[in-house]
Amino acid sequence: MIKALVCGAGGFIGSHLVRRLKNEGCWVRGADLKYPEFSKTAADEFLLLDLREEKNCRAAVRLGKSETFDEVYQLAADMGGMGFIHSAECEIMRNSALINIHMVDSAANAAVKRYFFSSSACVYRDMKPKEPELSEEEAYPALPDNEYGWEKLYTERLVMTYGRRHGLAARIARFQNCYGPEGTWQGGREKAPAALCRKIAQAEDGGTIEVWGKGTALRAYTYIDDMIEGIILLMHSDLENGVNIGRQEYVSVDELVQTIAAVAGKKIHMKHVAGPVGVKARNFRNDRITSIGWKSKCSLRDGIARTYPWIKAQVEANRDQASLS
Ligand code: NAD
Repeated sequence: MIKALVCGAGGFIGSHLVRRLKNEGCWVRGADLKYPEFSKTAADEFLLLDLREEKNCRAAVRLGKSETFDEVYQLAADMGGMGFIHSAECEIMRNSALINIHMVDSAANAAVKRYFFSSSACVYRDMKPKEPELSEEEAYPALPDNEYGWEKLYTERLVMTYGRRHGLAARIARFQNCYGPEGTWQGGREKAPAALCRKIAQAEDGGTIEVWGKGTALRAYTYIDDMIEGIILLMHSDLENGVNIGRQEYVSVDELVQTIAAVAGKKIHMKHVAGPVGVKARNFRNDRITSIGWKSKCSLRDGIARTYPWIKAQVEANRDQASLS
């Protein structure tokens, strides 16, 4: 039986990944600062650990005598949407780097066989709308738009060095925006799809929501099930260096709002206000991930149709709780 450790198992992608690994018949240990917020973990064992500390990373990878994890999935990060990325630069640079430095070193010392790191499309420079697709190598010469991207790029290189020296099969995914049920939807760390679903769930039919920026920034959004499929395929492949994972369905922020409003069955007006938006456009090749059989199955419309009802239910449950207290 494959033994897998998922770091960041209390978070959005990590908790879905644990569920998938369990369905595949693995024995799974989760590690995180917190348990998953929205459902019980599917992990066989869950350790509450601050992975910024070396001794906790060593504990996370420790199994019984002469046993080692076959796979470590490292998704723990101090992270959030654009609002958080722009306001918490020091925390991102310090906390995520500490986690990554200690985790890969601990995994290599414990003779772990395969190591997955969740990098991000934020490693790339800003792009102009309609610019041709960037391949993975075109992350260099490097000019990420924010510190979160620089930390990811540094860690990609860190993980590759451990791969070379220790014979660790290092697999690095560069995720585009990922969304779905059981992701952070309020509190300042939520990403655009969740924040906009929340605002629309809170708005009256015919109401107005505030949208950061001019609404023209182009992004692709990948549904959680597609992302998990990509993680599993990449981890078990021979692909080295960074690999883009993302659906190639690029929409503006205004189009994202219109898609959510259509799913919600509401007429929504937008008021564009100043706010952190990030890069102007994205457009990436994904021939590396498709070469190992990955294909996005969930359109933006279908993914929002699965996500919006969940966020609406959270908004309503919160409203009921507030009215009771
Ligand atoms: P998330 O915030 O839901 O999950 C991250 C988890 O890391 C959280 O549960 C958090 O508690 C945990 N964590 C933070 N600091 C920790 C510490 N010191 N010790 C132990 N655990 C700690 O985020 P997510 O959306 O699930 O993202 C998972 C990974 O994917 C992250 O590395 C993120 O940078 C990357 N990523 C995500 C997206 C996306 O759109 N969600 C896009 C690109 C990359």
